[in-house]
Amino acid sequence: MRPLQMVDTKTQYHKIKDQVDTAVLAVMESSQFIGGKVVNDFAASLAAYHGSKHVIPCANGTDALQIAMMALGLEPGDEVITPSFTYIATVEVAALLRIRPVFVDVDKQTFCIDPVEIEKAITPKTKAIVPVHLYGQAANMEAILDIARRHNLYVIEDNAQAIGNDYSFSDGSVKKTGTMGHIGCTSFYPSKNLGAFGDGGAICTDDDQLAEKIRMIASHGQSKRYYHDVVGCNSRLDAMQAAVLQVKLQYLEGYIQARRKAAGFYDAAFNNHPAISIPFRHPNNRHVFHQYTLLLHGVDRDALSQYLAEKGIPSMIYYPVPAHRQKMFDAFGGSSFHLPVTDWLTERVISLPMHTELDEEQQQFIVDHVLEFVNRSI
Ligand SMILES: *Cc1c(COP(=O)(O)O)cnc(C)c1O
Repeated sequence: MRPLQMVDTKTQYHKIKDQVDTAVLAVMESSQFIGGKVVNDFAASLAAYHGSKHVIPCANGTDALQIAMMALGLEPGDEVITPSFTYIATVEVAALLRIRPVFVDVDKQTFCIDPVEIEKAITPKTKAIVPVHLYGQAANMEAILDIARRHNLYVIEDNAQAIGNDYSFSDGSVKKTGTMGHIGCTSFYPSKNLGAFGDGGAICTDDDQLAEKIRMIASHGQSKRYYHDVVGCNSRLDAMQAAVLQVKLQYLEGYIQARRKAAGFYDAAFNNHPAISIPFRHPNNRHVFHQYTLLLHGVDRDALSQYLAEKGIPSMIYYPVPAHRQKMFDAFGGSSFHLPVTDWLTERVISLPMHTELDEEQQQFIVDHVLEFVNRSI
């Protein structure tokens, strides 16, 4: 059996090595390392894949979120409504811009921001909602977009974990996650579902003016070279990463299928277990399983994790401390937020290896050991 890893990017690479190597070597030969055709072609391919009008590549997913907030004109003192049950990047960028993150609780089943709680948290200072499609499952966008419309708020989707997910509205229309709000942000961090061989990110929008602004901000605020109209930053996807991503984008659908198949195997093994809840699959979207995350009931999670580690099975807690309880947010009154579902989930989640290269032998080994420990402890 191949050694177990949370993510196996090496095996994945070896399957498409010739294509990737050729593409990367061509960039080296061209010496066009920043910008240029390869980056533009990838942006066009991703826009076509998403069915979105504009894709602006940038340096990473964190920058994508920051640039989105800058492009929407959010200012110090404004408020954005976000989940606390997320990766820190979602909310860190708000704090960096002196925008106040207003943390709200998540839905117990989907782990994504709860629209009912959003509505309660709106104040005259609220400017935007930042839903996160956590672990690959889409937030309840129909309800979120409705709230945003009624209260005249922007929606910035954090799509770092869910690229390729399809969300269905009740009228039957289907959209990719990251293309429903005013701006969608994603990450190409190597372990993400569409991973580069280094850092990368992208911003999606259908709004021409916003796209122009995003492009300017990501490029030192320049409208034309050496003419800087607004304060911006330097955030670029380099050509080698774009070359890798252009190749891998062709395989994204297959990668999603592989993740969903692996999730199905785990589901079948853990379904109906009294001490384990398997990931909920909301019928309104196609979960793309960036993570496969179980909830444990009455099981010593650290002891399970330790036991698995001894058997060579990695596991992770995403995330051990929710954002509102991070020291970083003391100044924003982080821990004064009352988020019982977030706290409840934080104590119970555990993520198992999930990637495109898992085989059944590996998964059976993981399942057997999880069940052995859990059945012994209940
Ligand atoms: C990975 C991730 C980000 C940040 O992306 P980077 O490319 O690492 O900067 C933001 N939000 C979420 C939910 C993520 O998982």
